[in-house]
Amino acid sequence: MGERPTILITGAGIGGLTAALTVASAGFDVVICERTAELSEIGAGIQLSPNAGRVLDSLGLDAAIRDVAIEPDAIDVMSGVSGGRIASLPVAAFRKRYGAPYRVIHRADLQTILAAAVNKATDIRLLLGTTVEAVLPRGGESFVRLKGQRDEVIQAAAVIGADGVWSATRERITGAFDPEPVGRTAWRTVIPRDNIPDTLPTNRVGLWMGPNAHLVHYPIARGAAVNVVAIVDEVWDKPGWNARGDYRRIAERFNTWPAAVRAIVTAPQGWQKWALTSVDPGGRWAEGNTALLGDAAHAMVPFLAQGAAMAIEDAAVLANCLKASPANIPTALAAYEAERKPRVMRVWNAARRTGEHYHMTGRMAGLRDTALRLVGPRLMLMQNDWIYRWQPGSPGSAQD
Ligand SMILES: Cc1cc2nc3c(=O)[nH]c(=O)nc-3n(C[C@H](O)[C@H](O)[C@H](O)COP(=O)(O)OP(=O)(O)OC[C@H]3O[C@@H](n4cnc5c(N)ncnc54)[C@H](O)[C@@H]3O)c2cc1C
Repeated sequence: MGERPTILITGAGIGGLTAALTVASAGFDVVICERTAELSEIGAGIQLSPNAGRVLDSLGLDAAIRDVAIEPDAIDVMSGVSGGRIASLPVAAFRKRYGAPYRVIHRADLQTILAAAVNKATDIRLLLGTTVEAVLPRGGESFVRLKGQRDEVIQAAAVIGADGVWSATRERITGAFDPEPVGRTAWRTVIPRDNIPDTLPTNRVGLWMGPNAHLVHYPIARGAAVNVVAIVDEVWDKPGWNARGDYRRIAERFNTWPAAVRAIVTAPQGWQKWALTSVDPGGRWAEGNTALLGDAAHAMVPFLAQGAAMAIEDAAVLANCLKASPANIPTALAAYEAERKPRVMRVWNAARRTGEHYHMTGRMAGLRDTALRLVGPRLMLMQNDWIYRWQPGSPGSAQD
C-alpha cells in the first residue's frame, strides 16, 4: 500500500467486499475490517440479477462466478393452493436482453470469489477478527481505532459503514435506531438434491405463493443441492433475530400446500429462522467523510431478491463518486447518497409491494393469479425491466 488516500470499510459482507474492490480500482488504498475471525456467509443461496452481475463482471469476476453459479432456465410461479403453474418467466433470456445473466449461487461461493479477489489486490488490506471501536474526526480525516488480533489506529480519508442491518456506523450518522421488524420470518435450508423427489425440476426456480406465505427453491452447488427459503407472516423478535428453526413448525405451516412443497419442507434437514427487518432508506446515508452502504443504509424485505444487488450497485457508484472528487471526500459521499437514494427507495418500496402480492389470500389471490396468467411472461418481465437494466450513472429513479 502506498501514498494514496485510505478508505476504511467496516464489514466484509457482500457489500463491503465488493466496495473494497471497486474503491481500490478507483485509485484508493482500502482497509476492510471484519469483526468475525473467519469469513463465513450463512449457509444459503442467493439470486444475482443482471444489474448486480454487471458490476461483478466489471471487476473481472465473471469467469469465477460462471464456474460455480447456475443460470436457470426459468422462474416458475406456482399456486400454493392448486399446485398448478400460474406463469413462467424465461430468465435464460436475460443474458441476451440485459448483457448479464440471472444467476443463483451459494453465498459461500460468492464470498470466496470476492475474498480471493480482495486478497490478491495489493492495495487492499483485509483485517479479520477486527472491530472498529472508535472513529475520531480530525482535520478532514478520521482516526479509526481498531481492536483485533493487533490493535491499531488507521488514518482514513473516508469511513464506509458496510456493517449490516445492525450497523453501528449508522448510529453515528443518524443517531441510534433499531431496524424495523416487518412481521415476517424467513426459514432457510439447503437440501442435498438426492433427498428431494425427482419430480422437482432441476434447472428452474420455483416460486410458490399461498395465503400469508410463500416458498422459493432453486438449485445451487452445481446442482448438487437445493436452496429453500420459506417466508411466513409471523411476529417474532427474539434477541439476535436468527435461530435454529424447528422443522415440525415449518412442516405444519405448509401441511395443506401441494405435495411438491410438502416434500421439500419435510425433507430431513436443519432449518434456520430469521426475523425479517428493514431500514428505511429515506434517512441520511452520509455525513462529512462517513457514509453507509448496503443493509446498513437500506435493508429491505427479500421479495425482489435485491438487497445484496443494491449493496453491489452502491459499491459501483461509491467508487465512481470517489474517483470524481478524490480531493473532496464529503462532496463525493454526498454525491453518492444523492445518486443512490432515489433508486434504492424505489426498489425498497417495490419489494414491500411484491411481498403483499405474494401473500394475498382469498379473492384477492384469485385475481392476482388471473392477472398473472393474462399478462404472461413478456409483461412480467417488463415490470422489473427498470431494476435489471440499471448501469452505474443511470438514475433509475422515476416512479413506476
Ligand atoms: C431470506 C433472505 C433472502 C435474501 N435473498 C437475496 C437474494 O436472493 N438476492 C439479493 O440480492 N439479496 C438477498 N437478500 C438480501 C441480502 O442477503 C443482504 O441485503 C446482503 O447480504 C447485505 O449485505 P451487506 O454486506 O450490506 O451486510 P452483511 O452481509 O450483514 O455484512 C455486514 C458485515 O459487517 C460485519 N460487522 C458488523 N459490525 C462490525 C464492526 N463494528 N466491525 C467490523 N465488522 C462489523 C458483520 O460481521 C458482517 O460480516 C436476502 C435476504 C434475506 C433475509
